[in-house]
Amino acid sequence: MKITLAPGDGIGPEIMGSVLQIFDKARVPLEYDLVAMGKEVVLAGDVTGISETARRSVESTGILFKGPMETPKGSGHKSVNVTARKLWGVFANKRVYRTFSRVPTPTGVHGLDLTMVRENIEDTYGAVEHMQTHDVAQCRRFISRPGSEQVHRYTFEVAARKGARRVTCAHKANIMKMTDGLFLEAFYDVAKDYPDIEADDVIVDALAMRLVQDPSQFDVVVLPNLQGDIITDLVAGLVGGLAYAPSANIGESICIFEAVHGTAPDIVGRDLANPTALLLSGTMMLRHLGLVAHAGVIEQALERTLWAMHKRPDLGEPIAPFSTSVFTERMLDELESLPIPAGEIPRLDVRRRSEPSMRVTPEPKQTILRGVDVFLESGLPPKRVEEQLSALGGWLKLTMISNRGTQVTPVGSVYTDCVNHYRARFETERPVTQQEIVSQLGAVGERFRLCGAEWLREIDGVQGYSLAQGQG
Ligand code: NAD
Repeated sequence: MKITLAPGDGIGPEIMGSVLQIFDKARVPLEYDLVAMGKEVVLAGDVTGISETARRSVESTGILFKGPMETPKGSGHKSVNVTARKLWGVFANKRVYRTFSRVPTPTGVHGLDLTMVRENIEDTYGAVEHMQTHDVAQCRRFISRPGSEQVHRYTFEVAARKGARRVTCAHKANIMKMTDGLFLEAFYDVAKDYPDIEADDVIVDALAMRLVQDPSQFDVVVLPNLQGDIITDLVAGLVGGLAYAPSANIGESICIFEAVHGTAPDIVGRDLANPTALLLSGTMMLRHLGLVAHAGVIEQALERTLWAMHKRPDLGEPIAPFSTSVFTERMLDELESLPIPAGEIPRLDVRRRSEPSMRVTPEPKQTILRGVDVFLESGLPPKRVEEQLSALGGWLKLTMISNRGTQVTPVGSVYTDCVNHYRARFETERPVTQQEIVSQLGAVGERFRLCGAEWLREIDGVQGYSLAQGQG
């Protein structure tokens, strides 16, 4: 079987070289289609960082095994890694955290076996960002029901395979009631299909503290994208650092296996790069392809190698600086003495597609428009903005104005600091049409520079918009 291979930038070629030597020694039955991805492709003029041959190869093999890739600094450059995840619909990022005996951990954690699943393509990672005024930037955060259900279902499947008793959903639904609220609601909906697994939830800040205190309290944790990004690095720190954090990016048709860490520009070419995270990402890939015995023997060799490479600091023996070449040699030596599996055949069912799949849940019975939140630019104080908007008349009533999400009229405090970006809420008792709202926008636009608008919808009797702070 052929998989697509992209060594990446920075330390990528060094650690990928080590991993391929180890795979070769373990007689892993795979062939590699080497493709160009990353910085060289970006610098050659393709801002995606994914060459056409790479795209074709990944869509044909269904598997990308990649090294870290650099995102050139400056505007106009999107992360190649994020682009790849979104382009190929790899909706779940699974990270398995294990400790290795003798590998030092800052809080002395040992014997950990924690699985975290990070939603991988939604949230702020759409990077739909705009300067709304010269002082105010906005990032749109998308959380969808189908996307949330997809990642939760995958998480419960992972938990069932692991034999886990509990899955915990982390979120900030106490603050982001619509977005994280939807993520959490979808979690408990999916949990109903897995009655043998306990489902609970935790607010993400509390999770951070509890993980540092005692990570063994958790078994499988699922998180939204941005919170997952941060918390999974925290756990990487607990198990010894990014060099021990592998990941599998799972999609319906395509999967990407990569280390969590980046290109480590500070140690390139110095024989200091630790290939462990990439190697463990590789063994996750082997398991995914049914090469379970090969993964097992490589991990056995890894245990022994890391044990031998770390002296006993508790007995006063210093830890030598990590060496990529020593690591590789030791791995090859260890594999020499272990029984190499024979007869395992890789399996993969790549679901082919002719067009993107539409993920839409059944239509609600009733959607009613109740008004509009208009975002506008003004450096005037709140009362002056209110006067001008009230003078517009019309049947849509101005019910509230907020600044940076804090209500400033009709009720507010002179101690609220304001910037030149207001949200004016117009509501009506009777349902309105989209056209009626558009005409109101036109009237506001004659007095103020418009920054955007959001419809106030009621979906099957449930209010689909948040109250402003101080309302309600
Ligand atoms: P980084 O992960 O590259 O490095 C952080 C620190 O960890 C550095 O001190 C580095 O030397 C060390 N480190 C990382 N991996 C190591 C390893 N295997 N062995 C030993 N030490 C290791 O993070 P950064 O410096 O913030 O990012 C550098 C570049 O990598 C940026 O361009 C960033 O966009 C990119 N990046 C890519 C990925 C990816 O490809 N998935 C992920 C994160 C960052």
